Amino acid sequence: MKALHPQQTCELHVHVGGCLYTEDLLELGRGIYAEVDWSLFVNSYEKAFGVRPDPERLFREGLRSERGRERFREHWVYHQEDGGDFGRFQAKFDLLICLYRYWAQNLHREEEVLWRIAERHRCEGLDYVEYRAMFGLDDPERFLHFHRTNARVFEQVSREGFSARYLISLPRGAALQGYALVQRLLAENPELVPTVVGLDFCFFEEGHPPDKLRPFFARLAADNQRHPKQALEVAYHVGEVFFDKSLESAVRWCHQAALLGAKRLGHAIALGLDPEVAVARRPKAHEEEPVSERLAQINYDLEHRKELEAFGVEVDRRGLERERVALQGQGTGERVSLPYSPERLEEVRRRQDYVLDQLTRLEVCIESCPTSNMRIGGVPTPAQHPLWRFLRSEVGLAIGADDPGVFDQPLAAEVEWVAAHADMGRRELARRLGDPRRFSFGWQRPF
Ligand SMILES: [Zn+2]
Repeated sequence: MKALHPQQTCELHVHVGGCLYTEDLLELGRGIYAEVDWSLFVNSYEKAFGVRPDPERLFREGLRSERGRERFREHWVYHQEDGGDFGRFQAKFDLLICLYRYWAQNLHREEEVLWRIAERHRCEGLDYVEYRAMFGLDDPERFLHFHRTNARVFEQVSREGFSARYLISLPRGAALQGYALVQRLLAENPELVPTVVGLDFCFFEEGHPPDKLRPFFARLAADNQRHPKQALEVAYHVGEVFFDKSLESAVRWCHQAALLGAKRLGHAIALGLDPEVAVARRPKAHEEEPVSERLAQINYDLEHRKELEAFGVEVDRRGLERERVALQGQGTGERVSLPYSPERLEEVRRRQDYVLDQLTRLEVCIESCPTSNMRIGGVPTPAQHPLWRFLRSEVGLAIGADDPGVFDQPLAAEVEWVAAHADMGRRELARRLGDPRRFSFGWQRPF
């Protein structure tokens, strides 16, 4: 078997909508694009890019000529030049959301969109894919319908040589509410239990500390223990876009997500991007954070003092306790500002080492998505990619494509990119990564 074959045929981190390529969208829009309500896309695109797009024209010309197709591609594919900005990424993604809504609500044929996605993956040679998708909670019936439809299709497409599994993405701000609906879905459709293997947290992470999900994780752990045959595992996007806080807090969030029970962390750039590179990305980057985050950091440092000190992070207990008292008098929404010194940056490196070591012990895997991190995650150059740091550590690591259609990069190309830029040969890389299937969800459930 070719080195890196296991890594190029197992996909653990893709969002359903992001799997559609330019050609897929043009085909899905053929004959209907004039009927679709594009307002969501047009408005968010204008807000993010300052230009009001004309989707009807994009489709008309995209279906007619190579030049039109290229122009369409520019509005769908997310490039490095678009800037590491989640809002801009979402604006492009809204094109798909408008189109998908039409297929679902007007045509009632959204299954065809999903079949197209799975078929493409099968043709690419993938044999195991965990898909994930998100739907708003405003209307519980529609939430259930959306996820039931997805899970059913992924169950149906799974046959000889191709297995699809499904993770339901829950809104970070209403996890328990979403989770209760997932439980209802599985109770009403027990045939979907083998396909629905996990839950995911994605979308904007800024403003959503993992610690707020403590009640959700406690509930999930209790349910998993009661019903091990339908236990759900958690994948959690964290440390991807974190300009709202200090580097220490960004590192801490990754650790806290793992301590709460997430088994795979999406991106975790905060654990591998060199601190000096991270703070150079914007003026005064990561210097400010809300008082609530600084307080959480102080509590974390005091709680993990011994372990941190073992990694060379000095924890000034008295000083932190004094700072905590002073901060407690302030509103939690107020912001504190702490500038970086070379010593502080060096200390953040040790914090990263500490948390990578903790993840290794907890057997938590990092899902690293190379192109996504370059284009959305604000990693400035390939040489500065967090992956190299992860590869030097012992942390479990899986390569994902995230949104292969939006980035125009299938999984095999992502793995090739890693092989081309890594400081090791293909065989050594294959050995270091191992078979990503060991991090897949669901297989550890008792029969
Ligand atoms: Zn993702």
